[in-house]
Amino acid sequence: MKQLKFAEDLPQKILEGSKTCTWRINDNKNISVDDELLFTNNNKEPFAKAKVTSVLVTKFKNLSDKDWVGHEKFNSKDEMYKTYSGYYKFKVNEETEVKIIKFELDLLIQNSKIHNNGVFAARDIKKGEEITSDYSDEMVPGTEMFCNCGSKNCKKIIRFK
Ligand SMILES: [Zn+2]
Repeated sequence: MKQLKFAEDLPQKILEGSKTCTWRINDNKNISVDDELLFTNNNKEPFAKAKVTSVLVTKFKNLSDKDWVGHEKFNSKDEMYKTYSGYYKFKVNEETEVKIIKFELDLLIQNSKIHNNGVFAARDIKKGEEITSDYSDEMVPGTEMFCNCGSKNCKKIIRFK
C-alpha cells in the first residue's frame, strides 16, 4: 500500500476531519484516484487509512479556492513556501508544481487498528451467546439513561463514569 507521511500536528487535523486534502511535490508514488493510502506520522507510525477521491496537478501560483478546501491555511504566502521548502529540502516557489490530493478516511481501520478501540472478552464466548457492554464510559458527562438489558447485574441507571 502507498504510504504518505504527515508532519507535526497534521495527523491530529486529519483524525478530527478538518484536513481532507494534502499537497505533494514530486509525487514519485503516482498517487491516483481510488488509491488506498496508509497515513503515517513523523515517526512513521500509521494513524489512518484513506482512499483518494480526487487528484489535480497545478502550480502554487495557480491554487484555486477549491484546492484550499480541507487544507490547512498559512499566515502568508512566504510562510507557505517556507513550510514546503522545509518539508522537501529545496526552494519551493510559485512556479513549483504541486499535486492536490483529496481523500476520505477509512473509519473502520481508524477505530480498530489505530486507536485500539476493540472489544476484548475476559472469558470465552459461546456461539450465539448474547454479549452486552457498559455504555457509561461512552456517555457525555452529566447525562444518564435507563437500562433495560435484563442482566441480573444491571445497574438500571447508567451514568457517565
Ligand atoms: Zn443493564
